[in-house]
Amino acid sequence: MSNDIKSINEFDIELICDYYSLVERQGPGSPEITQKAISFIDNLNKNSQIVDLGCGTGGQTMVLAKNTQGYIRGYDIFPKFINLFNENAKKENLHDRVKGLIGSMDDLPFREEELDLIWSEGAIYNIGFERGLKEWRKYLKKGGFVAVSEASWFTNERPKEIEQFWLAEYPGIDTIPNKVIQMQNAGYIPVASFVLPENCWTDNFYKPQVKAQEIYLKAHKENTAAEDFIANQRHEESLYRKYKDYYGYVFYIGKKI
Ligand code: SAH
Repeated sequence: MSNDIKSINEFDIELICDYYSLVERQGPGSPEITQKAISFIDNLNKNSQIVDLGCGTGGQTMVLAKNTQGYIRGYDIFPKFINLFNENAKKENLHDRVKGLIGSMDDLPFREEELDLIWSEGAIYNIGFERGLKEWRKYLKKGGFVAVSEASWFTNERPKEIEQFWLAEYPGIDTIPNKVIQMQNAGYIPVASFVLPENCWTDNFYKPQVKAQEIYLKAHKENTAAEDFIANQRHEESLYRKYKDYYGYVFYIGKKI
């Protein structure tokens, strides 16, 4: 294993995908927080068209499905995640109204004003918060909602180590008021924003990774890239524990006007 911690952006995507297939969630969150975000959405009925962009294996999508009416399509670029998503929908007996599809959030197949709700937990960073909000808006009906969770700074200033880490990983990270302004400028009423509690990271994101890391390292013996990747994940977790007062995930909910 090399001593230098590499940025997540340096790893082979298949390697990352293999690893995250081993855990139920691919980002910080919880069923309670998904339900809390749903509580701000008031336009849904049994005919509603809902999409979950960057759905991963569908941990949050199944919670969304159990707490809403209507049809849900989950999109992700990784076929492996979509296979697991559809298996999960079947297991939960939700497959008649929840479907996983392969597709990219920057090249979506929807008609204008087709959708009632666009969901995206811990995934909009793949095209950027502002760009995603602007580009997706046209697919929503007037009065439709967007609900996304996104990495955000909690304070105006922060220690250099964590600032540099995030600037390398995701320079789009910004403070909560700045993200809210971006949402408003993109053409939405910023209906709500709230910080995800710590257990969304510790219990639901990092804890399940301990076992996954063991399995993964066993399956990729003497694979330096895999070892470096696990070192990267462990480093990220140690930074979270050290600097969690300065950043975290925030849910932003907007209504199209
Ligand atoms: N929403 C899930 C997964 C978050 S991880 C959860 O909260 O657990 C980010 C997800 O975005 C991954 O599943 C990744 O495969 C997906 N992704 C990355 N780039 C994408 C793109 N261009 N279009 C759609 N999904 C993408």
